[in-house]
Amino acid sequence: MASRPEIPLDISKWRKPGSCEVAHKLFALKNSDLFKLTKGIWLDPVSRGFEEVGKIGLSKEDLTVKAKFLQSIYRKQLKVLVASAENKDKVTRLRHAYEVNCRPSGFKVIPETMTCKSSTCPWCFIRRLYKFVFLPLKDSIIQIQNLNKARVKLVYWRRYCAAENPDNIPFFLGHRGPHVWFNSYTTAQVMVPFVSPYDDQLLFTHVGIHVVPADLVVDDTIKQKHTIKASNNFQISEYRNLKLLDSARQKSSEAINKALVQIMCQLFSSPFYSLFLPKNFEHFKAFRLDYKGNRLIRLSSTLKKEKNGR
Ligand SMILES: [Zn+2]
Repeated sequence: MASRPEIPLDISKWRKPGSCEVAHKLFALKNSDLFKLTKGIWLDPVSRGFEEVGKIGLSKEDLTVKAKFLQSIYRKQLKVLVASAENKDKVTRLRHAYEVNCRPSGFKVIPETMTCKSSTCPWCFIRRLYKFVFLPLKDSIIQIQNLNKARVKLVYWRRYCAAENPDNIPFFLGHRGPHVWFNSYTTAQVMVPFVSPYDDQLLFTHVGIHVVPADLVVDDTIKQKHTIKASNNFQISEYRNLKLLDSARQKSSEAINKALVQIMCQLFSSPFYSLFLPKNFEHFKAFRLDYKGNRLIRLSSTLKKEKNGR
């Protein structure tokens, strides 16, 4: 539905470190899964407009440069936020200082600064994905393979939905919908915000990843969608990009890591960037306000007690 909006890469407008901004030195931790997720979800897609990078002698492939760019456009949005009339109080400014200096994920950072846990922070988004999606799914696969000696595979999908009501985020329920539908051992659902380039609305990319029995026949399962739709009023018909990964041959921890990183980079590389564009400032501001206390990740499992994460 929505394609990635073009990100203007104008080096001349990169913000120089201000009074509360730390000029981080970044060193990529290339072998860490956190870095691989950061690279695949945030840094690799930053490619347009890099002619200017070439002019000043930096490599287009320099991931540190790309991280600095992402940091600069995020900081710029925060700067506008704190400068607005209703956000000039001391608490907001202190909070802003934490957020603006949140350390990029997957990098050794000098000086080392604290993480901010903001709903709009690109770095904390990656950390949440790692902690509440990557690790639980990996643990599930290993647990099933080691203890139950069962073969498993991954099923995943992505759909789009409107971000209309912060009190009723359109997750599928753990006891109905795809988690039961796929006979899933563990299911992770994530809502990724973005602004539609077509109608300027704030939307979610709703992503689901399931650890399922290896013998699940998805084609037959999909036929149940009308039953599900009728029972809970969700628009299952929006399902797309449904694919499988057979993990039965992936015995090693490294192989499972590699498969999960690959899938997550594919699924979460969404136009979340659009929230950081100056023209979408009002959406950026509203999203921070509306979804401040809400969790945009949901985990369901038959292996462990269901829990939600942020
Ligand atoms: Zn952060």
